[in-house]
Amino acid sequence: MSDRPQPQPGILEIAAYVPGRSTAGPGVKVTKLSSNESPLGASPKAIAAAEAAIAGGLEIYPEGSSRLLREALGEVHGLDPARIVCGNGSDDILHLLAQAYLGEGDEAVMSQFGFSVYPIVTRAAGAQIVMAPEADYTADVDAILAAVTERTQMVFLANPNNPTGTYISEAELDRLHAGLREDILLVVDSAYAEYVTAADYAVGAALVERAKNVVMVRTFSKMGLAALRIGWMYGPPEIVDALNRIRGPFNVNLPAQLAGAAAARDTEFTEALRLHNARWRDWLTAALSSNALRVVQSQANFVMVLFPDEEGRRARDAFAALLDQGLVVREIGVYGIGNGLRISIGSEAAMRAVVDVLKGFG
Ligand code: PMP
Repeated sequence: MSDRPQPQPGILEIAAYVPGRSTAGPGVKVTKLSSNESPLGASPKAIAAAEAAIAGGLEIYPEGSSRLLREALGEVHGLDPARIVCGNGSDDILHLLAQAYLGEGDEAVMSQFGFSVYPIVTRAAGAQIVMAPEADYTADVDAILAAVTERTQMVFLANPNNPTGTYISEAELDRLHAGLREDILLVVDSAYAEYVTAADYAVGAALVERAKNVVMVRTFSKMGLAALRIGWMYGPPEIVDALNRIRGPFNVNLPAQLAGAAAARDTEFTEALRLHNARWRDWLTAALSSNALRVVQSQANFVMVLFPDEEGRRARDAFAALLDQGLVVREIGVYGIGNGLRISIGSEAAMRAVVDVLKGFG
C-alpha cells in the first residue's frame, strides 16, 4: 500500500497540454498568434447575449442540457438538437468520449501530427495510444487503417488538422469510415470547419447521419468565443445518451450557452471571419513561400511554416525574432515538428509584421 493517493496508471506518463504563449518581453505590445483565436473579436450579438445573461443574475444554475444552444445549432446547421451534446469547450467533449468508450486494454488510433489532446484523453481513460504515420503532414487513411488492431475502439481525426492545417477530402473520410469495424468509434473533429475553402471537404455531419459509429465534434473557440469555452458534438442517439449520463450536470455556463446561441445565428459575423481568414491565409502563404520557407497549404485559421534546417535552430531563432516584435506564435516541437512554427491568421497589420520579420529567414 502506498503512503499517499496514487493516480490511475498512465496518468503520470501524460505530458500536460502546453498552451500557446501569451506573453512577450516586458513592455512589448503583444499580438497573440499562438492559439488560433479570432482576429475580429467576437460577434457583437454574442457579447450582448453574454452581458444580458450576467445582468439577469448569476445565482441560478443554467439549464443543464444547453437546450437553447442546441436548438440554435440545430436550426443553423440543419441538425436534430436532440442529437447534440454541448461541452465546456470541445476538449470536454473529447474527454467525455474517451471516458465513455475507452478503457484498460483498448487502443485509440490517431495521426502522427494530430491534435495533442487526443493522446491526453486516451491515456487519461487508461487506454493505449497508437500513432499512424502521416504522408507529408497529412493524415494517411491507409496508415490509419493499417494501425487498427482488434483492440482498437476509437479513431481520432482532426479535419482540418491542428497544427498542420491539412485536410482529407470527403471521399477519403468515407473510405476511412468504410474501412473501420462497426464497433470502432470514429471521432471527426471539425474544429476548423468554418475556415475550409476546399470544395471536396465534408464537415462530417452527413457521415454521422448514415453511420452508427461516427461523431462530429465542433467548437466556438476559433470563431471569437474562446474565453467562454463552448464545444459541441453531433452523434448517434446512443452515443449522445452515453455522454449525457456522464457529463457534468451543468457543464456549459449560462453566458456561454446564450452567447453561443447568438453567435451561431450571427451568420454575417461568421462570414466576415471566414472572408478575412481566406484572404489573409492566402496572402501569408504566398508572401512567406516566396522567401524559401515552406508554408504547408492550410484549410484552417493558421498556417504551419517549415524552416529548412531539420534541427530547428532557424525556427527557434525566428520564434525569438517574432517575439522581440511582440508577435507571439506557436512552437510545435511538442508535435515532433521542431523545424516548424504555427502562425494564426491575424489582422492585416499582424500579418504584414510577421512577413517583415520572417523575410530575414528565407
Ligand atoms: N480540436 C482541435 C483540432 C483543436 O485545434 C482544438 C483547439 N486547440 C480543440 C479541439 C479544442 O478546442 P476547444 O476546447 O477550445 O473547443
